[in-house]
Amino acid sequence: MIIDLISDTVTKPTKGMLEAMTNAKVGDDVFKMDPTTNELQEKAAKMFGMEDALFFPSGTMANQTAIKLHTQPGDKLICDKYAHVYNYEGGGAAFNSGVTCKLIDGNRGMFTAEQLQEAVADRNDIHVPFTSLVCIENTTNKGGGACWSFSELEKLQKVSKNNNLAFHLDGARLFNALVATDESPKQYGQLFDTISICLSKGLGAPIGSVLLGSKEHIAKALRIRKLFGGAMRQVGFLAAAGNYALDNHIERLAEDHQKAKEIGAVLESTSYVTKVEPIETNIVIFYVDDKIGDANFIQKMEAKDILLTPMGEGKIRIVTHLDYTNEMHEILLKELKDF
Ligand SMILES: *Cc1c(COP(=O)(O)O)cnc(C)c1O
Repeated sequence: MIIDLISDTVTKPTKGMLEAMTNAKVGDDVFKMDPTTNELQEKAAKMFGMEDALFFPSGTMANQTAIKLHTQPGDKLICDKYAHVYNYEGGGAAFNSGVTCKLIDGNRGMFTAEQLQEAVADRNDIHVPFTSLVCIENTTNKGGGACWSFSELEKLQKVSKNNNLAFHLDGARLFNALVATDESPKQYGQLFDTISICLSKGLGAPIGSVLLGSKEHIAKALRIRKLFGGAMRQVGFLAAAGNYALDNHIERLAEDHQKAKEIGAVLESTSYVTKVEPIETNIVIFYVDDKIGDANFIQKMEAKDILLTPMGEGKIRIVTHLDYTNEMHEILLKELKDF
C-alpha cells in the first residue's frame, strides 16, 4: 500500500463519481450543447451568487484566462511572493499576457491592505508598469494552506476598487478555506471580480476548474479559453465529476483538516522536527533538523511507501485528501513517531 501525500490531486474518482461520469448526458460544448457542463456552470455561478461561470481543463488555464481578461500587455499584476500565478504557472503571466508581477513580501502567502496600498502608490508614474490587477490565493498553497481573514479581504477589495484594479481570487482550495472558517461562497462572490476554483484538488474530481465572474467577464473568458486551446467537446463526462464533487465532497474536507492537525501534533512531539507551520486546512509544512535533512527524510519515508513533497527552503509538505484512509493515517502517525 502506497500512502501518497504529495498532493490532494492524486485522488481517483469514487464509485459514485465514476457512475455520475459514465451516465452523464453530453453534447458538443463548443456549441454550448453539453447539458452536464451547462449544469455545472449554472450550479457554480448560483453557489457563488455570480452571473456566470466557465469550465476549464485546469486551474492554471482558468487563472491565466483571468489574468488575460483583466490586463493589457505591459501591465503589471500584484500578488504575494508565494503566489501560484507567479511561481507555478510556467511564467504564463508573461508569456500569455505580457504582464509582469509585483510581489508583496507577505506572511504565509497573505498580505495586508496597507501593503497593497504601498504597492500601488506608483500607479500614476509613467515610468512604472501600469498596475491593473490584484491576485489573492485562498487557501495559500506555498503558505501552508493558510486562510485569509475575511475582513482583511474586504479592506483589500476597497483598495482595489479605489484604484480601479481588478480583484481576482485563485481559489484552487477555496472550499478548504470555506469549511475551515465557516464562510460561504456567496461572501466571496460579492467581493471578487473573478474567482477560479479547482474541482481536482480536495474535491476529488479527476480534472477540472471553474472560472466565475460577470456575464461580460465570462464572455471574454470564453474567447480567451478558445485561444488557449481549451474549448472542449463532449466534456460533460468530466463536468459530471465536478457536479458530483460539489454535491458530495465539500463538507467532508473537515476530515482532511482533522487528519492534518493530528499529523501536525505528532510531528510537534518528535525530537527531529524543528518546526511545524500552523495548520488550518489540509496542508502540513514542517522542517526537520540538519542531522536528518529534508531530502534524506523524504527518501527514507519513500522507502516505507510514504510519499511527501519537498517545497524548497527545507520545507517538507504533506497534503491530506479523499483517498487518504483512516488505516493509512494510523500507519503514518506510527511511522512518524518511530522515525
Ligand atoms: C493547483 C493550483 C492551481 C491550478 O493548478 P492546475 O494543476 O493547473 O489545476 C492554481 N492555484 C493554486 C494555489 C493551486 O494549488
